[in-house]
Amino acid sequence: MKLPKSFLAKIPKEYKREFINTTSRDNFIRMLIITVLLAVIEPFIALLFQVPGSVNFYISLGIALFAVLFLPILYFNKKNIERLPVPYLITIQLLFLIVLLTKGVILSLLEQSHLASSSAYFLAVFTIAAFMTIPPSISLFIFFLPNIIFILLLPQFQPLPMLIMTLKINTLSMTLIAWLLNQMISRDKVKSFINEKLIIVKNTELKKINEELKDLTTRDSMTGFLNNKNVLKRLKEETERAKRINYSLSVAMIDIDDFKHINDTYGHRIGDEVLISVAQIITEQCRSTDIVGRYGGDEFFLIMPDTNVNDAAVLLERIKLRVRDTSFVNGIKLTVSYGASELAEDSEHELFESSDAMLYKAKRKGKSQVELQLERDMKSAEIN
Ligand code: GH3
Ligand code: MG
Repeated sequence: MKLPKSFLAKIPKEYKREFINTTSRDNFIRMLIITVLLAVIEPFIALLFQVPGSVNFYISLGIALFAVLFLPILYFNKKNIERLPVPYLITIQLLFLIVLLTKGVILSLLEQSHLASSSAYFLAVFTIAAFMTIPPSISLFIFFLPNIIFILLLPQFQPLPMLIMTLKINTLSMTLIAWLLNQMISRDKVKSFINEKLIIVKNTELKKINEELKDLTTRDSMTGFLNNKNVLKRLKEETERAKRINYSLSVAMIDIDDFKHINDTYGHRIGDEVLISVAQIITEQCRSTDIVGRYGGDEFFLIMPDTNVNDAAVLLERIKLRVRDTSFVNGIKLTVSYGASELAEDSEHELFESSDAMLYKAKRKGKSQVELQLERDMKSAEIN
Protein backbone atom coordinates (compact mmCIF):
# COMPACT_ATOMS: atom_id res chain seq x y z
CA MET A 1 0.00 0.00 0.00
CA LYS A 2 1.38 3.38 -1.02
CA LEU A 3 1.23 5.99 1.71
CA PRO A 4 0.87 9.65 0.87
CA LYS A 5 3.91 11.65 1.93
CA SER A 6 1.82 13.96 3.99
CA PHE A 7 -1.77 14.00 5.08
CA LEU A 8 -1.89 17.66 4.05
CA ALA A 9 -0.23 17.10 0.65
CA LYS A 10 -3.53 17.22 -1.21
CA ILE A 11 -4.77 20.34 0.55
CA PRO A 12 -3.93 23.55 -1.37
CA LYS A 13 -1.40 25.67 0.53
CA GLU A 14 -3.82 28.54 1.15
CA TYR A 15 -6.29 26.20 2.90
CA LYS A 16 -3.82 24.27 5.09
CA ARG A 17 -4.27 26.42 8.19
CA GLU A 18 -8.04 26.32 7.77
CA PHE A 19 -7.92 22.53 7.46
CA ILE A 20 -5.77 22.23 10.59
CA ASN A 21 -8.24 24.48 12.43
CA THR A 22 -11.23 22.43 11.26
CA THR A 23 -9.76 19.04 12.17
CA SER A 24 -8.31 20.37 15.44
CA ARG A 25 -11.71 21.80 16.38
CA ASP A 26 -13.37 18.42 15.71
CA ASN A 27 -10.62 16.64 17.64
CA PHE A 28 -10.95 19.03 20.58
CA ILE A 29 -14.73 18.47 20.74
CA ARG A 30 -14.19 14.69 20.82
CA MET A 31 -11.33 15.02 23.29
CA LEU A 32 -13.63 17.12 25.50
CA ILE A 33 -16.28 14.38 25.48
CA ILE A 34 -13.71 11.64 26.22
CA THR A 35 -12.14 13.78 28.98
CA VAL A 36 -15.51 14.42 30.65
CA LEU A 37 -16.22 10.67 30.57
CA LEU A 38 -12.78 9.93 32.08
CA ALA A 39 -13.26 12.59 34.78
CA VAL A 40 -16.58 11.01 35.78
CA ILE A 41 -15.93 7.29 35.28
CA GLU A 42 -12.33 6.86 36.51
CA PRO A 43 -13.00 7.86 40.18
CA PHE A 44 -15.89 5.35 40.24
CA ILE A 45 -13.66 2.62 38.82
CA ALA A 46 -11.00 3.47 41.43
CA LEU A 47 -13.44 3.43 44.34
CA LEU A 48 -15.63 0.49 43.28
CA PHE A 49 -13.31 -1.90 41.45
CA GLN A 50 -9.73 -1.21 42.50
CA VAL A 51 -7.95 -2.13 45.69
CA PRO A 52 -7.15 1.15 47.52
CA GLY A 53 -3.41 1.79 47.43
CA SER A 54 -2.84 -0.50 44.42
CA VAL A 55 -1.12 0.74 41.23
CA ASN A 56 -4.42 0.46 39.32
CA PHE A 57 -6.15 2.55 41.97
CA TYR A 58 -3.60 5.35 41.59
CA ILE A 59 -3.66 5.13 37.78
CA SER A 60 -7.45 5.63 37.76
CA LEU A 61 -7.20 8.57 40.15
CA GLY A 62 -4.28 10.02 38.17
CA ILE A 63 -6.25 9.80 34.93
CA ALA A 64 -9.26 11.44 36.61
CA LEU A 65 -7.03 14.26 37.87
CA PHE A 66 -5.44 14.67 34.44
CA ALA A 67 -8.93 14.84 32.88
CA VAL A 68 -10.11 17.51 35.34
CA LEU A 69 -7.00 19.64 34.74
CA PHE A 70 -7.07 19.09 30.99
CA LEU A 71 -10.74 20.03 30.53
CA PRO A 72 -10.32 23.85 30.80
CA ILE A 73 -7.25 23.70 28.50
CA LEU A 74 -9.25 21.83 25.86
CA TYR A 75 -12.17 24.21 26.20
CA PHE A 76 -9.89 27.25 25.86
CA ASN A 77 -8.16 25.72 22.81
CA LYS A 78 -11.44 24.91 21.09
CA LYS A 79 -12.64 28.49 21.56
CA ASN A 80 -9.37 30.09 20.39
CA ILE A 81 -8.21 27.75 17.64
CA GLU A 82 -7.78 30.54 15.03
CA ARG A 83 -5.39 32.45 17.25
CA LEU A 84 -3.28 29.55 18.56
CA PRO A 85 -0.04 28.49 16.82
CA VAL A 86 -0.16 25.19 14.90
CA PRO A 87 2.75 23.52 16.84
CA TYR A 88 0.90 24.20 20.10
CA LEU A 89 -2.36 22.73 18.75
CA ILE A 90 -0.54 19.59 17.57
CA THR A 91 1.39 19.23 20.84
CA ILE A 92 -1.80 19.35 22.93
CA GLN A 93 -3.47 16.72 20.75
CA LEU A 94 -0.36 14.51 20.87
CA LEU A 95 -0.17 14.84 24.65
CA PHE A 96 -3.77 13.67 24.96
CA LEU A 97 -3.16 10.67 22.70
CA ILE A 98 0.05 9.72 24.53
CA VAL A 99 -1.67 9.83 27.94
CA LEU A 100 -4.58 7.72 26.69
CA LEU A 101 -2.30 5.13 25.08
CA THR A 102 0.13 5.02 28.02
CA LYS A 103 -2.80 4.29 30.31
CA GLY A 104 -3.94 1.49 27.97
CA VAL A 105 -0.46 -0.04 27.77
CA ILE A 106 0.20 0.13 31.55
CA LEU A 107 -3.20 -1.29 32.50
CA SER A 108 -2.87 -4.11 29.97
CA LEU A 109 0.60 -4.98 31.26
CA LEU A 110 -0.66 -4.98 34.85
CA GLU A 111 -3.54 -7.25 33.83
CA GLN A 112 -1.05 -9.95 32.82
CA SER A 113 -0.54 -11.20 36.40
CA HIS A 114 -4.08 -12.56 36.52
CA LEU A 115 -5.49 -12.30 32.96
CA ALA A 116 -3.88 -12.81 29.53
CA SER A 117 -5.75 -9.88 28.08
CA SER A 118 -4.99 -6.53 26.50
CA SER A 119 -8.50 -5.04 26.55
CA ALA A 120 -7.40 -1.71 28.11
CA TYR A 121 -4.89 -1.24 25.31
CA PHE A 122 -7.48 -2.14 22.63
CA LEU A 123 -9.99 0.25 24.16
CA ALA A 124 -7.49 3.11 23.99
CA VAL A 125 -6.35 2.30 20.44
CA PHE A 126 -9.88 1.95 19.01
CA THR A 127 -11.17 5.05 20.82
CA ILE A 128 -8.41 7.04 19.15
CA ALA A 129 -8.92 5.31 15.78
CA ALA A 130 -12.64 6.04 15.69
CA PHE A 131 -12.74 9.59 17.02
CA MET A 132 -9.51 11.39 16.15
CA THR A 133 -8.30 12.75 12.81
CA ILE A 134 -4.55 12.08 12.57
CA PRO A 135 -2.14 12.58 9.64
CA PRO A 136 -0.62 9.25 8.35
CA SER A 137 2.97 10.11 9.27
CA ILE A 138 2.06 10.88 12.90
CA SER A 139 -0.52 8.11 13.12
CA LEU A 140 2.07 5.40 12.34
CA PHE A 141 4.06 6.57 15.36
CA ILE A 142 0.94 7.05 17.53
CA PHE A 143 -0.45 3.58 16.82
CA PHE A 144 2.62 1.38 16.51
CA LEU A 145 5.08 2.82 19.04
CA PRO A 146 2.90 2.01 22.09
CA ASN A 147 2.35 -1.46 20.60
CA ILE A 148 6.10 -2.00 20.27
CA ILE A 149 6.63 -0.80 23.87
CA PHE A 150 3.85 -3.19 25.00
CA ILE A 151 5.49 -6.09 23.13
CA LEU A 152 8.95 -5.27 24.54
CA LEU A 153 7.71 -5.05 28.13
CA LEU A 154 5.31 -8.01 27.91
CA PRO A 155 7.85 -10.71 28.96
CA GLN A 156 8.39 -8.81 32.23
CA PHE A 157 4.68 -9.14 33.07
CA GLN A 158 3.43 -12.30 31.33
CA PRO A 159 5.15 -15.50 32.56
CA LEU A 160 3.76 -17.89 29.89
CA PRO A 161 5.76 -17.78 26.59
CA MET A 162 2.82 -19.21 24.59
CA LEU A 163 0.57 -16.37 25.71
CA ILE A 164 3.27 -13.81 24.97
CA MET A 165 3.33 -14.88 21.31
CA THR A 166 -0.49 -14.84 21.07
CA LEU A 167 -0.66 -11.39 22.67
CA LYS A 168 2.03 -10.05 20.35
CA ILE A 169 0.13 -11.26 17.26
CA ASN A 170 -3.23 -10.09 18.61
CA THR A 171 -2.08 -6.60 19.55
CA LEU A 172 -0.16 -6.14 16.30
CA SER A 173 -3.12 -7.16 14.12
CA MET A 174 -5.57 -5.08 16.16
CA THR A 175 -3.24 -2.07 15.95
CA LEU A 176 -3.02 -2.51 12.19
CA ILE A 177 -6.82 -2.65 11.88
CA ALA A 178 -7.22 0.38 14.14
CA TRP A 179 -4.64 2.31 12.13
CA LEU A 180 -6.38 1.43 8.82
CA LEU A 181 -9.75 2.45 10.26
CA ASN A 182 -8.28 5.74 11.41
CA GLN A 183 -6.74 6.38 7.99
CA MET A 184 -10.05 5.74 6.23
CA ILE A 185 -11.85 8.16 8.52
CA SER A 186 -9.11 10.78 8.25
CA ARG A 187 -8.95 10.54 4.46
CA ASP A 188 -12.71 11.03 4.20
CA LYS A 189 -12.25 14.21 6.21
CA VAL A 190 -9.62 15.47 3.74
CA LYS A 191 -11.86 14.56 0.80
CA SER A 192 -14.93 16.31 2.15
CA PHE A 193 -12.87 19.40 3.06
CA ILE A 194 -11.42 19.59 -0.47
CA ASN A 195 -14.86 19.05 -2.02
CA GLU A 196 -16.33 21.82 0.12
CA LYS A 197 -13.57 24.19 -1.00
CA LEU A 198 -14.01 23.15 -4.64
CA ILE A 199 -17.72 23.98 -4.43
CA ILE A 200 -16.89 27.41 -3.01
CA VAL A 201 -14.30 28.07 -5.76
CA LYS A 202 -16.73 26.87 -8.48
CA ASN A 203 -19.51 29.04 -7.05
CA THR A 204 -17.25 32.10 -7.08
CA GLU A 205 -16.27 31.36 -10.69
CA LEU A 206 -19.93 30.95 -11.67
CA LYS A 207 -20.81 34.23 -9.99
CA LYS A 208 -18.03 35.97 -11.95
CA ILE A 209 -19.20 34.43 -15.23
CA ASN A 210 -22.77 35.50 -14.46
CA GLU A 211 -21.61 39.03 -13.83
CA GLU A 212 -19.64 39.04 -17.09
CA LEU A 213 -22.70 37.73 -18.94
CA LYS A 214 -24.86 40.38 -17.34
CA ASP A 215 -22.29 42.97 -18.37
CA LEU A 216 -22.43 41.70 -21.94
CA THR A 217 -26.16 42.25 -22.06
CA THR A 218 -26.05 45.67 -20.44
CA ARG A 219 -22.95 47.17 -22.08
CA ASP A 220 -21.74 47.89 -25.57
CA SER A 221 -18.72 45.66 -26.16
CA MET A 222 -16.79 48.22 -28.23
CA THR A 223 -16.89 51.24 -25.92
CA GLY A 224 -17.88 49.65 -22.61
CA PHE A 225 -20.71 52.18 -22.36
CA LEU A 226 -24.24 51.14 -21.41
CA ASN A 227 -26.29 50.01 -24.40
CA ASN A 228 -29.38 51.99 -25.45
CA LYS A 229 -31.84 49.82 -23.53
CA ASN A 230 -29.95 50.22 -20.28
CA VAL A 231 -29.10 53.88 -20.69
CA LEU A 232 -32.84 54.55 -21.06
CA LYS A 233 -33.46 52.48 -17.93
CA ARG A 234 -30.93 54.62 -16.05
CA LEU A 235 -32.56 57.76 -17.49
CA LYS A 236 -35.89 56.68 -15.99
CA GLU A 237 -34.26 56.05 -12.59
CA GLU A 238 -32.38 59.34 -12.62
CA THR A 239 -35.48 61.28 -13.69
CA GLU A 240 -37.47 59.81 -10.79
CA ARG A 241 -34.63 60.51 -8.38
CA ALA A 242 -34.17 64.11 -9.56
CA LYS A 243 -37.90 64.78 -9.15
CA ARG A 244 -37.99 63.12 -5.75
CA ILE A 245 -35.13 65.10 -4.25
CA ASN A 246 -35.75 68.19 -6.40
CA TYR A 247 -32.38 68.15 -8.10
CA SER A 248 -31.62 69.29 -11.62
CA LEU A 249 -30.90 66.74 -14.32
CA SER A 250 -29.52 67.33 -17.78
CA VAL A 251 -29.05 65.01 -20.71
CA ALA A 252 -27.20 65.29 -24.01
CA MET A 253 -27.26 63.42 -27.29
CA ILE A 254 -23.81 63.47 -28.91
CA ASP A 255 -23.26 62.51 -32.55
CA ILE A 256 -20.08 62.42 -34.63
CA ASP A 257 -20.32 64.65 -37.69
CA ASP A 258 -19.97 62.98 -41.10
CA PHE A 259 -18.83 59.71 -39.60
CA LYS A 260 -20.00 57.79 -42.63
CA HIS A 261 -17.40 59.67 -44.64
CA ILE A 262 -14.64 58.36 -42.32
CA ASN A 263 -15.83 54.80 -42.79
CA ASP A 264 -16.03 55.29 -46.56
CA THR A 265 -12.53 56.84 -46.75
CA TYR A 266 -10.55 54.76 -44.24
CA GLY A 267 -12.64 51.62 -43.79
CA HIS A 268 -14.69 50.33 -40.87
CA ARG A 269 -11.70 49.12 -38.82
CA ILE A 270 -10.26 52.65 -38.63
CA GLY A 271 -13.83 53.92 -38.08
CA ASP A 272 -14.07 51.62 -35.04
CA GLU A 273 -10.77 52.94 -33.64
CA VAL A 274 -12.00 56.51 -34.01
CA LEU A 275 -15.28 55.63 -32.27
CA ILE A 276 -13.37 54.12 -29.32
CA SER A 277 -11.14 57.24 -29.10
CA VAL A 278 -14.16 59.55 -29.06
CA ALA A 279 -15.70 57.38 -26.33
CA GLN A 280 -12.46 57.73 -24.36
CA ILE A 281 -12.54 61.54 -24.65
CA ILE A 282 -16.14 61.58 -23.40
CA THR A 283 -15.20 59.35 -20.45
CA GLU A 284 -12.23 61.54 -19.53
CA GLN A 285 -14.30 64.73 -19.48
CA CYS A 286 -17.28 63.36 -17.57
CA ARG A 287 -17.65 63.21 -13.78
CA SER A 288 -17.85 59.84 -12.07
CA THR A 289 -21.54 60.45 -11.39
CA ASP A 290 -22.34 61.02 -15.08
CA ILE A 291 -23.80 58.08 -16.99
CA VAL A 292 -22.79 57.47 -20.59
CA GLY A 293 -24.44 55.16 -23.08
CA ARG A 294 -23.83 54.30 -26.72
CA TYR A 295 -27.23 54.98 -28.14
CA GLY A 296 -26.64 53.99 -31.75
CA GLY A 297 -23.83 53.75 -34.31
CA ASP A 298 -22.00 57.04 -33.73
CA GLU A 299 -24.45 58.43 -31.18
CA PHE A 300 -23.76 58.73 -27.46
CA PHE A 301 -26.24 59.60 -24.75
CA LEU A 302 -25.05 61.40 -21.65
CA ILE A 303 -27.00 61.66 -18.38
CA MET A 304 -25.72 64.34 -15.98
CA PRO A 305 -27.36 64.14 -12.55
CA ASP A 306 -27.41 67.24 -10.36
CA THR A 307 -26.47 69.42 -13.37
CA ASN A 308 -28.44 72.25 -14.98
CA VAL A 309 -28.28 72.78 -18.72
CA ASN A 310 -25.81 75.70 -18.47
CA ASP A 311 -23.35 73.60 -16.47
CA ALA A 312 -23.94 70.76 -18.93
CA ALA A 313 -23.03 73.17 -21.75
CA VAL A 314 -19.63 73.80 -20.12
CA LEU A 315 -18.87 70.06 -20.07
CA LEU A 316 -20.16 69.59 -23.62
CA GLU A 317 -18.11 72.51 -24.88
CA ARG A 318 -15.03 70.91 -23.31
CA ILE A 319 -15.75 67.61 -25.09
CA LYS A 320 -16.37 69.47 -28.35
CA LEU A 321 -13.00 71.27 -28.15
CA ARG A 322 -11.09 68.12 -27.13
CA VAL A 323 -12.56 66.20 -30.09
CA ARG A 324 -11.87 69.08 -32.47
CA ASP A 325 -8.24 69.43 -31.30
CA THR A 326 -7.45 65.69 -31.35
CA SER A 327 -5.64 64.05 -34.24
CA PHE A 328 -7.19 60.60 -34.40
CA VAL A 329 -5.65 57.52 -36.04
CA ASN A 330 -4.27 58.29 -39.53
CA GLY A 331 -4.33 61.97 -38.59
CA ILE A 332 -8.12 62.02 -38.91
CA LYS A 333 -9.77 65.22 -37.72
CA LEU A 334 -13.43 65.37 -36.79
CA THR A 335 -16.12 67.31 -35.03
CA VAL A 336 -19.16 66.40 -32.99
CA SER A 337 -22.60 67.94 -32.50
CA TYR A 338 -24.73 67.92 -29.35
CA GLY A 339 -28.24 68.51 -28.29
CA ALA A 340 -28.72 69.07 -24.56
CA SER A 341 -31.77 69.51 -22.44
CA GLU A 342 -32.70 69.90 -18.79
CA LEU A 343 -35.49 68.11 -16.95
CA ALA A 344 -38.57 70.24 -16.29
CA GLU A 345 -41.97 69.00 -15.19
CA ASP A 346 -41.95 66.36 -17.91
CA SER A 347 -41.26 62.69 -18.36
CA GLU A 348 -37.99 60.99 -19.20
CA HIS A 349 -39.34 60.33 -22.72
CA GLU A 350 -39.94 64.01 -23.33
CA LEU A 351 -36.53 64.86 -21.91
CA PHE A 352 -34.91 62.35 -24.23
CA GLU A 353 -36.84 63.54 -27.27
CA SER A 354 -36.00 67.12 -26.45
CA SER A 355 -32.23 66.43 -26.48
CA ASP A 356 -32.64 64.46 -29.70
CA ALA A 357 -34.51 67.38 -31.26
CA MET A 358 -31.73 69.73 -30.16
CA LEU A 359 -29.14 67.48 -31.81
CA TYR A 360 -31.15 67.54 -35.00
CA LYS A 361 -31.23 71.32 -34.78
CA ALA A 362 -27.43 71.47 -34.24
CA LYS A 363 -26.90 69.30 -37.32
CA ARG A 364 -29.20 71.49 -39.39
CA LYS A 365 -27.35 74.57 -38.25
CA GLY A 366 -24.15 73.27 -39.84
CA LYS A 367 -22.74 70.67 -37.36
CA SER A 368 -19.93 71.08 -34.80
CA GLN A 369 -22.51 72.82 -32.63
CA VAL A 370 -23.89 72.58 -29.12
CA GLU A 371 -27.62 73.23 -29.10
CA LEU A 372 -29.30 73.72 -25.73
CA GLN A 373 -32.97 73.59 -24.86
CA LEU A 374 -33.14 76.57 -22.55
CA GLU A 375 -36.79 77.46 -22.08
CA ARG A 376 -38.83 74.49 -22.93
CA ASP A 377 -42.51 74.52 -23.67
CA MET A 378 -43.28 71.09 -22.26
CA LYS A 379 -46.25 70.43 -24.46
CA SER A 380 -44.46 71.04 -27.76
CA ALA A 381 -40.72 70.72 -28.04
CA GLU A 382 -40.77 71.88 -31.61
CA ILE A 383 -37.78 72.32 -33.85
CA ASN A 384 -37.45 75.26 -36.17
P1 GH3 B 1 -24.11 63.23 -39.50
O1 GH3 B 1 -23.12 64.30 -39.40
O2 GH3 B 1 -25.41 63.67 -40.05
O3 GH3 B 1 -24.27 62.47 -38.23
O4 GH3 B 1 -23.52 62.23 -40.59
P2 GH3 B 1 -22.97 60.79 -40.39
O5 GH3 B 1 -22.18 60.42 -41.57
O6 GH3 B 1 -22.29 60.66 -39.09
O7 GH3 B 1 -24.30 59.99 -40.43
P3 GH3 B 1 -24.98 59.13 -39.37
O8 GH3 B 1 -24.68 59.59 -38.00
O9 GH3 B 1 -26.44 59.01 -39.74
O10 GH3 B 1 -24.34 57.72 -39.66
C1 GH3 B 1 -23.54 57.05 -38.75
C2 GH3 B 1 -22.61 56.13 -39.49
O11 GH3 B 1 -21.82 55.49 -38.52
C3 GH3 B 1 -23.28 55.06 -40.27
C4 GH3 B 1 -22.43 53.81 -40.09
O12 GH3 B 1 -21.71 53.51 -41.24
C5 GH3 B 1 -21.43 54.23 -39.05
N1 GH3 B 1 -21.38 53.30 -37.95
C6 GH3 B 1 -22.37 52.93 -37.12
N2 GH3 B 1 -21.90 52.06 -36.19
C7 GH3 B 1 -20.60 51.86 -36.48
C8 GH3 B 1 -19.59 51.07 -35.88
O13 GH3 B 1 -19.77 50.36 -34.87
N3 GH3 B 1 -18.35 51.12 -36.41
C9 GH3 B 1 -18.08 51.92 -37.52
N4 GH3 B 1 -16.87 51.91 -38.01
N5 GH3 B 1 -19.03 52.65 -38.09
C10 GH3 B 1 -20.26 52.65 -37.59
MG1 MG C 1 -23.10 61.04 -37.24
